[in-house]
Amino acid sequence: MRQRPLGRLTLAFVKASPEAQLRLLELADLDTELGRLDHRRRTLPENAELAQLSERAAKVRDAITIADTNLADLDRELDRAEKDVDQVRVRIERDNQRLDAGQVSNARELESLQNEVASLRRRQGDLEEVVLELMERRESAQALRDGAGAEAETVGADETALAARRDAALAEIEEQAAKATAARAAIVSDVPADLLTLYDKIRSSVGGVGAAPLRRGQCGGCREMLSTAELNEIRRAAPDEVVRHEECRRILVRTPDSGL
Ligand SMILES: [Zn+2]
Repeated sequence: MRQRPLGRLTLAFVKASPEAQLRLLELADLDTELGRLDHRRRTLPENAELAQLSERAAKVRDAITIADTNLADLDRELDRAEKDVDQVRVRIERDNQRLDAGQVSNARELESLQNEVASLRRRQGDLEEVVLELMERRESAQALRDGAGAEAETVGADETALAARRDAALAEIEEQAAKATAARAAIVSDVPADLLTLYDKIRSSVGGVGAAPLRRGQCGGCREMLSTAELNEIRRAAPDEVVRHEECRRILVRTPDSGL
């Protein structure tokens, strides 16, 4: 009995011993395992957490840059304000020296000098207020900078720990994948080339596995129940006939509990 062409797949006419067909089920199990490991590798929760942490780290770096700029601005303002205070203080001292030295005898000049000193003292007071206010602002800015610095350290430590956990998980996956790959290679050497080619062709076309067991009238690949007509057709097929499930195109491997 020649196999009918199935769907869009062009198939080579393949016959294989029941033993070789059963080996395909082992191959399918390993391919399922390798697929599962690949999925795990791509969806490691650590990677999602690391992405979140890296976003947080970027935000913290921005906060540090802003805080540093703010501090530098305040330092410049503070420096300027302190110099202003010094200038006024120097002028007051100079005026006081002139007054103390009795250099000014003219009454009008004396009064004007005294007025100047009084006005300079008010100015000094105002400028000192400005310095104090700037110092308070600088303190708050420094606190923000310290907080951002501490958070950066925490995020950095979390990233390191998480990356180590991710690497450990990946190493474990790689180890399992290497075992499965080695086991697969051993089975592949036992499977006739034409059957293997067919299996791989189906696998790349439908995804997942290329062969599935027929159990109690059900296809183990797509979980569809086979019709009575299909089951009858399989009953009539010779044991070395490679049977395909029309629904999912996979090779259907007959097992002792196929329900035939
Ligand atoms: Zn199926």
